[in-house]
Amino acid sequence: MTDCIFCKIIKNEIPSNKIYENKTTLAFLDINPVNKGHTIVIPKQHFETIEGTPEDVLCEIIKTTKKLIPAINQAVNPIGVNLGLNNKSGAGQIVPHIHLHIMPRFNNDGHSLFGGKKASSEELKLLSDKIKNLL
Ligand code: 5GP
Ligand code: ZN
Repeated sequence: MTDCIFCKIIKNEIPSNKIYENKTTLAFLDINPVNKGHTIVIPKQHFETIEGTPEDVLCEIIKTTKKLIPAINQAVNPIGVNLGLNNKSGAGQIVPHIHLHIMPRFNNDGHSLFGGKKASSEELKLLSDKIKNLL
């Protein structure tokens, strides 16, 4: 896609700090890291959402992520990593080229996990049935 910033990174039309690439995926450091070592993993083909990405490509994204985490762990020594995928603009996706965030975590780094809301067992049962029936 011509005006996609991540496609431009793939084609070296804009600079980036690439750390790994293979036939189908590319990984580079996020320009605005939430923490040291924040890495973005993308497919080399342009897809926007997880629903729109072929399964084999999604597998490759995960395989690359699995390969990178031990190296990132050694490089920045975090206490853990969060993986994030903002799927569609309503969920915070700014760059419309599917990407997985690898975000190293550190003690007292100021980040917190999603807060949960209470849901009744009846509500959960109804919703699980609804989704199951739509598969
Ligand atoms: P999103 O909100 O779409 O999930 O996240 C997009 C991410 O891409 C952000 O964390 C942002 O900092 C990163 N990003 C945006 N533009 C560039 C760029 O030109 N280079 C790099 N390395 N990262 C970028
Ligand atoms: Zn793209």
